[in-house]
Amino acid sequence: AFIVFEGGDGAGKSTQAARLAEHLGRTGRSVLRTREPGGTEIGEKLRGLILDHGHGTVDARCEALMFAASRAAHVDQVIRPALASGAVVVCDRYVDSSVAYQGVGRGLGVDDVLMINRWATGSLLPDLTVLLDVDAASGRRRRTAASGAEDRLESEPDDFHASNRRAFLDLAAAEPGRYLVLDAAAGIDELAARIADRVDALLGG
Ligand code: C5P
Repeated sequence: AFIVFEGGDGAGKSTQAARLAEHLGRTGRSVLRTREPGGTEIGEKLRGLILDHGHGTVDARCEALMFAASRAAHVDQVIRPALASGAVVVCDRYVDSSVAYQGVGRGLGVDDVLMINRWATGSLLPDLTVLLDVDAASGRRRRTAASGAEDRLESEPDDFHASNRRAFLDLAAAEPGRYLVLDAAAGIDELAARIADRVDALLGG
């Protein structure tokens, strides 16, 4: 099964992805926890290029294609082989992040960004996407608390984060059966328990 965590910056995706991977490990499942670019050589180079050029300064289409290219390698070299071996793949960010950041945030359009990503991934969709929904103000507080400053790529104004949030929620609303939407303000243990229950149900026990 392929499980993806999505949500704005500071939502707690990596914490919850780690908790889910631990839970699955305890139940004896083979788990691959990954995030883009997933350690692929070309993906790491692309990530370096995206970061080097200053996020948001390189042409938006170029940036969207680099994210999609990195994702294509990650799917082909890491995710599909793991799924084929029977592992549960737990991935931090996937196509929805591109829809939110490049499609809406950079204004390229949801449909076009979905289209290039469908092509890049050979239409591989998550079995379940856990959306950790965070409002812009608390996301900013959590990012700042975590790092002492906004030192990642994410020092964007609140309205950027607000439109991203809307984009994630719209994707979830379009396919409610494939999403678990949770308020990221809930406690870490409560979120972990709800996610574990849903994934256990998906995996059949
Ligand atoms: O939270 P994480 O470290 O994964 O975020 C990296 C940053 O990369 C995000 O804040 C976002 O600005 C950016 N990003 C993006 N487009 C994607 C994925 C991530 O702009 N498709």
